[in-house]
Amino acid sequence: MTDKATTGLIHHPYTPPAGFEGAPVAVHKASTVIFKDTAALRSRDWRSKQGYTYGLHGTPTTFTLEERLATLEGAKHCLLAPSGLAAITLVHLALLQQGDEVLLPDNVYAPGREQARTLLAGFGVSHRLYDPLQPETLAVGERTKLVWVEAPGSVTMEFPDVDGIVARSRAAGAVVAFDDTWSSGLAYDAFALGADIAVHALTKYPSGGADVLMGAVCTRDDALQEQLTLAHMRLGLGVGANDAELVLRSLPTLVLRYDAHDAAARRLAHWLKGQPGIAQVLHPALPGSPGHEHWARHCTRAAGLFTVVFDAAVTQARVDGFLDRLRLFRLGYSWGGPVSLAVPYDLRSMRAAPRWPGLLARFSIGLESVDDLQADLAQALEAL
Ligand SMILES: *Cc1c(COP(=O)(O)O)cnc(C)c1O
Repeated sequence: MTDKATTGLIHHPYTPPAGFEGAPVAVHKASTVIFKDTAALRSRDWRSKQGYTYGLHGTPTTFTLEERLATLEGAKHCLLAPSGLAAITLVHLALLQQGDEVLLPDNVYAPGREQARTLLAGFGVSHRLYDPLQPETLAVGERTKLVWVEAPGSVTMEFPDVDGIVARSRAAGAVVAFDDTWSSGLAYDAFALGADIAVHALTKYPSGGADVLMGAVCTRDDALQEQLTLAHMRLGLGVGANDAELVLRSLPTLVLRYDAHDAAARRLAHWLKGQPGIAQVLHPALPGSPGHEHWARHCTRAAGLFTVVFDAAVTQARVDGFLDRLRLFRLGYSWGGPVSLAVPYDLRSMRAAPRWPGLLARFSIGLESVDDLQADLAQALEAL
């Protein structure tokens, strides 16, 4: 067996046009796919990936990307969506109907929770939150069809008690969906941990350039894939060929970039821990971070993300002064690209159960020199 995260993302079944045997996957663009006769038209089913029917239902470029992502995840099937949030939406609309309920961790990716609170509620689908570190708060009921796991959760980075959450969800017959964006198919194996579905924001590390918005939904289960494929078609989700190409081009370096982001983030997280004004650094690989023991059970790798909790006495104005003084770190949402980023957060407006009194800033470590990044943080910290 070859290594899926290196060899598997470089060597993959793809048949280039005869006479032009380049290894990179071509950018195929078409809405219409021409059939040679009516028999060919009638014989092709858009649901099967044996042939092409219409650009929206897949091209050689998008099928190859789906195949590579399935390889990375150890999944059987994969569907692309125009953003990570669209991939989450696809799972919701494929699996949930009026009267159903979905359970979300309190630290879930916030736009997904906002979708549950507004659109899903409008469709008669309810949601409840659970504490990712206390599986006993997972109130799986008769109407619970879907449970989301995010490991670790957004911003506060708690690595959940995955085993406890999966066991309770399974026992109640709910589908378990992992938001696998942080892991990128590398830090842990979502399906080995009990996922039925794994969702990725390819916008982050798989793209790696901060220049693409895309998502993916992977599964091993044929029946779930059928449900997902039908919803994918009914929603009209498609991705641009050039965007698919950018992700294909980035995948062979995914593991190298991931490990570089990881090493740099751990060094800076350790260093920040001892700095004045900083109460805590939330990074699942740091002992003392919430859920660290669950991270340690399932992972050796980590993404290049961490969050600092400022001392309770540090005011919003001081935090803003610190962030505004950063030169290499830029202020902006998202992560996974070469440029280091920072974003301020106030938990009191974000969590049902805030664990810390202080203000927060989330850092995404890019690919700059770690010494330069540390010097930038050191000069800005003087503003605290
Ligand atoms: C960024 C992100 C998403 C959404 O991805 P977009 O492509 O920006 O819509 C979903 N989940 C997690 C955990 C993310 O970090």
